Amino acid sequence: MLYKKKLFGLATILRPFLNWSYRLLGLPSLDELEAKLQVETIKNEQMKQQQNALYRVLSKIRASLDIDYVFRTTTKETCKLLGAERVAVYRFHEDWGGEFVSDFEFAESGWIDEEKLGKNTVWIDSYLQENQGGRYRENQTLVVADVLEAGLSQCHVDVLLQFGIRAYATAPIFTQHKLWGVLAAYQHSKPREWHDSEVEFLAQVATHLGFAVQQAELLAQTQQKAKDLEKTSEQQQILLSVISTIRESLDLDILFKTTAREVLKALNADRVGVFRFNPESNYCLGQFVSESVLPVYDSALAHPIYDRCFGEKYAMDYQKGRMQVLNNIYEANLKDCHLQLLEQFQIKAQIVAPLMNGQILWGLLCIHECDRYREWTNNELQFVEQLAAQFSIALSHSDLLAQTRSQAEKLSQTLQDLKTANLKLEKLARRDGLTGIANRRYFDIIFHRNWKAAQEKNHYLTLILFDVDYFKLFNDFYGHPIGDQCLINIARSVQKILRSTDLLARYGGEEFAIILPNTNPEQANRVADKIQSTVRNLMIPHANTLNGKSIVTISLGIASQIPNSHQLPQDLITEADQALYSAKKQGRDQWVSWVQPLTVIS
Ligand code: GH3
Ligand code: MG
Ligand code: MG
Repeated sequence: MLYKKKLFGLATILRPFLNWSYRLLGLPSLDELEAKLQVETIKNEQMKQQQNALYRVLSKIRASLDIDYVFRTTTKETCKLLGAERVAVYRFHEDWGGEFVSDFEFAESGWIDEEKLGKNTVWIDSYLQENQGGRYRENQTLVVADVLEAGLSQCHVDVLLQFGIRAYATAPIFTQHKLWGVLAAYQHSKPREWHDSEVEFLAQVATHLGFAVQQAELLAQTQQKAKDLEKTSEQQQILLSVISTIRESLDLDILFKTTAREVLKALNADRVGVFRFNPESNYCLGQFVSESVLPVYDSALAHPIYDRCFGEKYAMDYQKGRMQVLNNIYEANLKDCHLQLLEQFQIKAQIVAPLMNGQILWGLLCIHECDRYREWTNNELQFVEQLAAQFSIALSHSDLLAQTRSQAEKLSQTLQDLKTANLKLEKLARRDGLTGIANRRYFDIIFHRNWKAAQEKNHYLTLILFDVDYFKLFNDFYGHPIGDQCLINIARSVQKILRSTDLLARYGGEEFAIILPNTNPEQANRVADKIQSTVRNLMIPHANTLNGKSIVTISLGIASQIPNSHQLPQDLITEADQALYSAKKQGRDQWVSWVQPLTVIS
């Protein structure tokens, strides 16, 4: 300041002289210098103001992550600072067309009613489209002071005039290296010279808007990622619960139903269905066997679906693990017949995954979106893929279980058959082929068993041996077949009068043995008596005896003992045999009990 005062004081005195000297030297006069200084000072002041304004705007941009708010305040502030009639944000689409974005525009009063330009106005600029953003891509600003004088092409002028634009300055908005949009300042009422500093200001604001957009996009991405993560973990939970259901239940019906319901929720889909092919149809015919569907849509359940194309063309792909992912069924080049099928169930987008039973395509897991087209995410596809794999495990499990069950059933049936056969064999093995009563082998077993039991319980055990009298002569007279029948009749009739605990056996030839547990000598004699009369009562004629009898008779030997440790089972047999021998010797048709001394009853 002191320097300036001194300069002005001296200049007043010396001004005429100095002006003359400078002119001689060909330099600007003092007056001219002073005028220049004044202009510079004003310029500096303006610059300072603009810097302050820019700072204010930038602080607002930085302070908010709400991109809508940033655009609203920035367009407003910039509009006021530039003294423009309208400032707007224009956003490029993928195809380099674009539109003025809703709410991101500010117009000074008087231009609010400009109908044609403003919020959501679509402005397709063929030059920008053809050149993919044109000069904006080189980060250049475009400045036109008067659209009528700028030498623009007529079609461009027409568009500008259609929107009532007389002058404009525009600067590109970049996010990182991508041209995102344009910040535009317009003058409607008259032409306008745009100062370099104003254009520079506009460019700086646009640059910072780019940063803000970038930040907001980053934030949105992060938020989306967090959401995705949450969704993924929710899907993992469902997957886990499906896996545990598979482990716990081998009932496929329950598994399909609960899973379809859960998946519908997890994927926010409209229908989840389990489709099963008819095994004999070569993948041309099948039906949904389980589904979960929102009530507003039709059920696909139990509709037989015939699709010859599928069997011929697609089944093999699914067999190899292919999933079909359709975001929009109308953009997938599907055949008409296929489209009609999908339309029948109101499907707009879908995921179809193969359900394998081992190496065989069993069916399909279908996820349908019916109210809108839908871009399926990688996470969702992975989820469906994993789910289908788990289903396939369940299918194999249940098949294996069914196989095991049927094998077990068969095995138990075979076992039962075997038991029956064994029982039959056993019975056969212990039966006498002619008479059907126990044979000698079985007699031996039972006799030893009873011997032991009697020994333990200190009970009487009685053995009766009886033999048909003069049977050789019977055979000789009547023939062997009649002899056989005679033996059968005797066995049957004797069997009838015995207790269930007694055992009648064919001891050999025409000799029989009877084991009578817990039977003392007295009781034994009564039984022998009864047997003798039973055979007599059969009245089988025998015309060839040597004792004068004319019917078939028997001789019996009885032995009864309470077995002690000094005796052998064979002893009782020998005693009975000896008694029988005595009966024969004494004339036959009688019983002899082996007791000391031998009692003989005729
Ligand atoms: P005894 O009164 O002394 O017992 O004279 P027997 O003729 O009965 O005695 P022997 O032991 O001499 O003859 C037994 C006969 O029994 C011989 C045989 O032909 C006959 N016999 C043995 N087993 C069978 C059989 O299964 N069927 C027939 N029809 N006869 C049999
Ligand atoms: Mg005999
Ligand atoms: Mg004999």
